[in-house]
Amino acid sequence: MTKNTHLVASVFRKEVLAMSAYKVADAQGLIKLDAMENPYDWPEDIKKDWLETLKDCPLNRYPDPEARQLVQTIRRLNRIPDQFDVLLGNGSDEIIQLLLMALPGTAGVLAPVPGFVMYKQLSDCLGLAFQGISLLPETFDLDLPAMLTFIGQHQPSVIFLAYPNNPTGNLFSETSIREVIEASQGLVVIDEAYAPFAGASFIDSLAQYDNLLIMRTVSKLGLAGLRLGYIVGNPRIIQQLNKIRLPYNINSLTQLSADFALSRKTLFDEQTQQICAERTVVLEQLDELDGITAYPSAANFILFRTADKKASDIFSSIKQQGVLIKDMSSQGGLLSDCLRVTIGKPEENRAFLAALKKSLSQS
Ligand SMILES: *Cc1c(COP(=O)(O)O)cnc(C)c1O
Repeated sequence: MTKNTHLVASVFRKEVLAMSAYKVADAQGLIKLDAMENPYDWPEDIKKDWLETLKDCPLNRYPDPEARQLVQTIRRLNRIPDQFDVLLGNGSDEIIQLLLMALPGTAGVLAPVPGFVMYKQLSDCLGLAFQGISLLPETFDLDLPAMLTFIGQHQPSVIFLAYPNNPTGNLFSETSIREVIEASQGLVVIDEAYAPFAGASFIDSLAQYDNLLIMRTVSKLGLAGLRLGYIVGNPRIIQQLNKIRLPYNINSLTQLSADFALSRKTLFDEQTQQICAERTVVLEQLDELDGITAYPSAANFILFRTADKKASDIFSSIKQQGVLIKDMSSQGGLLSDCLRVTIGKPEENRAFLAALKKSLSQS
């Protein structure tokens, strides 16, 4: 054992030794409202067509390294002009990793906090200097003066802005984002993971800014199991990323399935509308509860604050009643006393609200 400890410490980078693995809660037997998944299944006839499509997939062959068919579908659906390139990733997580891997070791990475944890996690892992700048309390909007001061002094190589932001659910002010893009000499990645629920996007601003990249994923739309994300922007930037992308990072089944599903847009449009309608219902119900402050959301989840130091007890009580949400309170800062619930099916949301009410009456 001593030898092993020495072995591990001498072989691995100190950044890796200091990290902890990304933990995912076990949801077995629980109503799963913790991970921003779309709760809806596909109709049987669509499933049948899908399996028919997969039947002749040549699994003995390597996938198309460029995923040409799928890229074409993504371009068409998102009305991406020919002047921009599209790079696919095994989830947008992989694209964040790719981008950071391409930076020099001295590079700085900037993102508002609280934000999506992978920006920091992957920066830490690669030994890059990550700087989080706190959002404004309660509105969770960008602290523009603080952002601009930091950018002026340090000019980070990459700035990540999730739009809407996870875990707060809001859209940052558009004018603040534009000021950040204009002040930055590095890349600005607008992470539009929740675009289907937001009704807002910077995709039409790509032509205005050379340093702007738009990243999206099919995960929150309803295809989390496929692992597919994409980033769009200036070909000169995308070409660099393409050099370090593993040649077959999007497997054949994902290419076929994503192309199949995205081509049936109405299926997801209906599900997305349902989820947005339920988001309104859940927010109204949360607003009626004493001791709960719920924040408006442009995504498929809602962040809410409980009474002082009660978040973990309420989370556990809800879980004991069979519903898994996400406890954000351990992250502290603006998230102290906060929990996050993903919008599920109407009956799942009702079960969550009933469990929350019961836990409040007990505490
Ligand atoms: C979920 C999420 C992602 C990751 O999406 P994958 O494509 O599933 O890797 C990226 N950014 C934000 C802000 C997210 O919430």
